[in-house]
Amino acid sequence: MPATLESPLDILQRVFGYESFRGEQQAIIEHVVEGGDALVLMPTGGGKSLCYQIPALARPGTGVVVSPLIALMQDQVDALTELGVRAAFLNSTQDWRTAREVEQAFLDGELDLLYVAPERLMTERCLELLARGHIALFAIDEAHCVSQWGHDFRPEYLELSLLSERWPEVPRIALTATATAATRQEIAQRLNLVSARHFVASFDRPNIRYRIVEKADVKRQLLDFIQGEHAGDCGIVYALSRARVEDTAEFLSQHGIPALPYHAGLSAATRAANQSRFLREDGLVIVATIAFGMGIDKPDVRFVAHIDLPKSVEGYYQETGRAGRDGLPATAWLAYGLQDVVQQRRMIDESPGEDMFRRRLGAQLDAMLGLCETVTCRRQRLLAYFDQAIEPCGNCDTCLEPPQAWDGTVAAQKILSAVYRLWRERGQRFGAGHLIDILRGKATDRVKQYAHDELSVYGVGADLSEQAWRGVLRQLLAQSLLAVDHEGYGTLALTEGSREVLKGERTLMFRREPEKRSRSRSSGTRSKEAEIELPEYAQASFQALRAWRAEVARSHGVPAYVI
Ligand code: ADP
Ligand code: MG
Ligand code: ZN
Repeated sequence: MPATLESPLDILQRVFGYESFRGEQQAIIEHVVEGGDALVLMPTGGGKSLCYQIPALARPGTGVVVSPLIALMQDQVDALTELGVRAAFLNSTQDWRTAREVEQAFLDGELDLLYVAPERLMTERCLELLARGHIALFAIDEAHCVSQWGHDFRPEYLELSLLSERWPEVPRIALTATATAATRQEIAQRLNLVSARHFVASFDRPNIRYRIVEKADVKRQLLDFIQGEHAGDCGIVYALSRARVEDTAEFLSQHGIPALPYHAGLSAATRAANQSRFLREDGLVIVATIAFGMGIDKPDVRFVAHIDLPKSVEGYYQETGRAGRDGLPATAWLAYGLQDVVQQRRMIDESPGEDMFRRRLGAQLDAMLGLCETVTCRRQRLLAYFDQAIEPCGNCDTCLEPPQAWDGTVAAQKILSAVYRLWRERGQRFGAGHLIDILRGKATDRVKQYAHDELSVYGVGADLSEQAWRGVLRQLLAQSLLAVDHEGYGTLALTEGSREVLKGERTLMFRREPEKRSRSRSSGTRSKEAEIELPEYAQASFQALRAWRAEVARSHGVPAYVI
């Protein structure tokens, strides 16, 4: 029976052995089979591959798939071959003789699917080859690689709009799991897909429990988290630097958790070996930089942990989305603290390039910080970033254990005035640690050296623990009410916003983690601090929550967004 007579559902069942389509797969497939262009936004694990694989089988000719995931092409082609699909790839890892054979098979019409690396596709040789064969469709996988703002940017992707000029009659389907409206627009525009139909799936992954904790001894916290909740499970731990990756993998191994490192500094062979062990073995933890994960299809990753703050909500969503692809319960765990904010603000300040670029990075970080500091449902906040509104989810730390909000205005004024006085009276700037020592009245060597015990702010913050002060500083930094000094070294400086707080024009409500309720409350200076718990009724619906926030804000005389 000629393939063209088979319906998409027949192909799904006969070739892939699945019973039914998921979500919008069928609509997408039918649209492309009929020759339409499509832009598909579907979360990781949603089943994007079938959206071009089945049309490639249903239409005459070869489906040409552009993918940046060279390391995975062999696996993908092997899997398809096993299903009886005639698939091959062209990339730099193969010798010229194999490449010739693939080219010939394509010209002879013997391929259903041809995977090509983008830099290969754009060569004259390859374009000529394609012109001499019969193409069923172009699929552009991981289409967000066309975005210059994302961390997966591939310059070759910018040239892919050429496909629409050379093959205007061939349908094109672009697919990605990255989904903000801005990125979507950028993809459509850069790939010349403006008249393509957009298919936007829900980005909610209800089986993932999101949890964001305050960082203290992060390796120990990570170990407790894994041993306590995911002993024997397979998981991914993300860290920002290679050194931290190595160090953390070793630490976990020493404590009985089999862990392997993965970062761009390892040899290609080691990376491939570690990745393949992770994919095949049970109960292995991979500790990695963001170099790891795109295109990884391992259904039973039970947790994704971040021990450093991700740079953007999109990145965080992508990375956490690698957990629980099988639909079973999984955890996304993130530890974040003051140092993360200081470090990232500084990195942005010091990054080269235009101001606009830094502003964009700053806005991305702000959104991430907003997610970390929110006292409302994490998932709601996360999905709002992707323009999707939901009710409070009941499966994130905030929903399960509502945090307290407290009036931190006085505390904020104390620390801001310490920064102000040091600068005005002494011409000095300091980092978080020393400021906290001054406020808590600790007679450290440094305090004595600079005679900081003579300052009027010395000891006025003895009522709060060091950890609590770090929380105050972190949230001030998160809201740009305090800045990391441009001079570097992590010293702190006032901003326009800090002046409003100092003048008493602004009240600040901070998030306090539930486990820190037991702090000592000796001094009267905290009398202004009200503790506000998120009541149960407010969790019932988004409207109820909003009404509650408005009410609390009114009674405290503060804007609702700080609640
Ligand atoms: P994505 O590219 O969107 O991250 P994949 O295409 O790799 O996701 O698919 C993820 C997993 O879901 C794969 O193991 C795939 O075989 C499976 N899958 C996709 N569609 C279906 C379906 N309709 N029924 C059952 N399994 C499916
Ligand atoms: Mg995919
Ligand atoms: Zn929630």
